[in-house]
Amino acid sequence: MIDQPVAPDPPGSLGPAPIVIVGGGIAGLATAYECVRRGVRPVVLEAGPRPGGVILTESVDGFLIDAGPDALIAQKPGAIELIRELGLGDRIQTTLEPRTSFILRGGRLHALPEASVMGIPTRLLPLATTSLFSWPGKLRMAADLVLPRRANGEDESIGAFMRRRFGDEAVDYLAQPLLAGIHSGDVERLSMRKLFPRLVELETRHRSLILAFRRAPARPSPDGIFRSLPGGLEELVRAVMAALPPATVRARSRVEALARGDGGTWRLSLAGGGALEARRVVLCVPAYAAQALLAGVDPALAELAGEIGYVSSATVALGYRREQVRHPLAGAGFVVPAAERQCSLMAASFVSSKWPGRAPPGMVLLRAFIGGARNPELMALDLDALASLAERELGGLLGIEGAPVLVRAYRWDRSNAQHEVGHLTRLARIDERLGQLPGLYITGSGFRVTGITDCITDGRATAAAALT
Ligand SMILES: Cc1cc2nc3c(=O)[nH]c(=O)nc-3n(C[C@H](O)[C@H](O)[C@H](O)COP(=O)(O)OP(=O)(O)OC[C@H]3O[C@@H](n4cnc5c(N)ncnc54)[C@H](O)[C@@H]3O)c2cc1C
Repeated sequence: MIDQPVAPDPPGSLGPAPIVIVGGGIAGLATAYECVRRGVRPVVLEAGPRPGGVILTESVDGFLIDAGPDALIAQKPGAIELIRELGLGDRIQTTLEPRTSFILRGGRLHALPEASVMGIPTRLLPLATTSLFSWPGKLRMAADLVLPRRANGEDESIGAFMRRRFGDEAVDYLAQPLLAGIHSGDVERLSMRKLFPRLVELETRHRSLILAFRRAPARPSPDGIFRSLPGGLEELVRAVMAALPPATVRARSRVEALARGDGGTWRLSLAGGGALEARRVVLCVPAYAAQALLAGVDPALAELAGEIGYVSSATVALGYRREQVRHPLAGAGFVVPAAERQCSLMAASFVSSKWPGRAPPGMVLLRAFIGGARNPELMALDLDALASLAERELGGLLGIEGAPVLVRAYRWDRSNAQHEVGHLTRLARIDERLGQLPGLYITGSGFRVTGITDCITDGRATAAAALT
C-alpha cells in the first residue's frame, strides 16, 4: 500500500492555481499526468489517506493481493500506452495459461465455450458441444442467425438486447454473470448501447451477431486480453505518482464545497478549513460526490450527477496450501449466475493461476467477489462474516479442506458506477450544462467511462481539453 504523506501547501496558495483536480483515483492521476506532460503543474486534492482510489495492492506473507481491480484490458490502448510512457513496458504481465473461465451451473463449473466473444458464440460446434446450455437454450441461441435486426435505435438494457437475440438462457448464464457481472450490476438495468456499443453496431450492420463474428472473426491476442504488473495494479499508481512533481497530490484533503470565485476563477473549500482558488477545476470523484460539490454551482447539473447509481461490493482473498484444494484451478476463475441461488458469490478468481507471482511456492491465492446489484443485503455483513461466507462457499465448490493460511476482506462501498439505460442521454445533458460553466470539467468512472483503461484515456483527454 502506498504511504502518502500530507503534502505542503501547493504553489496555488500564492494565487489561483492553474488547475486543481479533485479526486486522486486513477482518473485524477491520469488527468494530472497529462497536465504535467503539457507543462502545467496541477494540484490534486484527495480525500483519503493515499492516492489510487479503488486501486489498492497489499503484500501479505508472500501473497500479493489486488484488493480492488486486478486487470487492465489490453484491447484498448489507454493503460498500456501510459505504462510504456512511464518506462514500465518491459514489466507488463500477461495472464497465465490456460485462460479458461468457468460458469457455475447446477453446482458444477462449466468451461465457457471456446470460440466466443464476451460469451457470445462465434462458431456453432463449440456451442453445440458445451455442457453449459440445455439443447432448447442452444437452439434458441442459434436463432440469432435468422432473427431480424431491431427496428428502432433506442437504448435498451443488456438483458433486453441479449434476450431478443439469444433467449432467456443466454441472459441467465452469459449476459448476467459476464456482461453485467463486470460492473457488479443489474442485467435488466445496465445500458447496452453505453457499455457494449460494438455489439449494438454489429447488429445494426450485420443483423446476426453470430454471422458478424463469422464474417469478421475476432483475432484474439495469443497473450490473452488482460494485463497487469508484477507489483499488482498499485505499481501503476506508484509510477504515475513518481512522474508527478513532489507534493502534487495532497492526501487527506477533502473538498467540501465548490463555488465561483472572482474573475472567472473557482473557489474550493476544504474540510477542516482552508480554501484554494483555481482557474480550472477537474472533478474526478464519484458522481454522488460530484453532486454534492455541484449543488451550489448548478443545481440541475448536480441533480443529473445524483441520478447516476452505484453499487457496493466486497472482495475476499483466501490463501491455501496447494494440497488443501482438490480442484485443479486450471483457469482464471468462475462467475456465478444469479439463477444459481445455492451460491451467493458473484464470482471468484483463481488469482495464482491467473497471474504469476501472486502466492508463495506451494500456495494458492483465491479471490471471491460478493454483493453488487445482485446481493446488496450481504453488504450489511462485517468483514469477518464476509470472509466466512467466501471461505464456506469456495470450500464447497472447489473441494477445499482445512482453514486458509491467509484471509483478507475488503469493502468497496458505492464504488461501482452503474451506466444504466438512459445514461447516454444524461451525459449529453451534463455536457450541455458543463458548456455553460467555463473552467469546470468532469471525468472519472461515473460519467463517460468505466474501467481503468478508459478512465486513463478520458482523464488525459479531459486535461487536454482543459488546457487548450
Ligand atoms: C472491486 C472492484 C474491482 C474492479 N475491477 C476492475 C478491473 O479488474 N479492471 C478495470 O479496468 N476496472 C475494474 N474496476 C473498475 C475501476 O477500478 C474503476 O472504474 C476505476 O478505478 C475508477 O477510477 P476513478 O478515479 O474514476 O474513481 P475512484 O478510484 O473511486 O477515485 C475517486 C477518488 O475521489 C476521492 N474523493 C471522493 N470525494 C472527494 C472529495 N470531496 N474531495 C477529494 N477527493 C474525493 C476518493 O477518495 C477517491 O480516491 C473495479 C472496481 C471495483 C470497485
